[in-house]
Amino acid sequence: MLDLHRFLALIRQLGLAKTKAKNVRRLAQILVTAYDGDVPQSFQELEALPGVGHKTASVVMAQAFGVPAFPVDTHIHRLAQRWGLSDGSSVARTEQNLKLLFPKEHWNRLHLQIIFWGREFCTARGCDGTVCPMCRELYPKRRRPVITRKP
Ligand code: SF4
Repeated sequence: MLDLHRFLALIRQLGLAKTKAKNVRRLAQILVTAYDGDVPQSFQELEALPGVGHKTASVVMAQAFGVPAFPVDTHIHRLAQRWGLSDGSSVARTEQNLKLLFPKEHWNRLHLQIIFWGREFCTARGCDGTVCPMCRELYPKRRRPVITRKP
């Protein structure tokens, strides 16, 4: 198994590298001992693993196992507010709103499409909901910047 110090050196540029390295090592040990080296395929089991929250579990369920999920990252949380799809009062609320709005069969593709759009165009500081064709089309009368809540 990869030595903790070597792994730490590889991910040092990420924030909280020490905690992440410890979590990944512990998680790998659990996968080997409790799951025979496989990744569990339920939200409950995934979220019980070290360092795995609901968003990460949703990504794994959606992208690795094709189970409909709507992981809400910072881009999706911000865009859902700028597009008027959620009040953004919490990440859980945003996820709930988006799941109610869109058919289940589109969730896995849609969450990636929104993330890519957000990364490309809809940055926290670069735009405020009044600039690009998307928001102008959706909100032609919008004059003031949209103040969004952070996750
Ligand atoms: S105008 Fe475009 S870039 Fe700006 S918030 Fe709206 S979708 Fe995002």
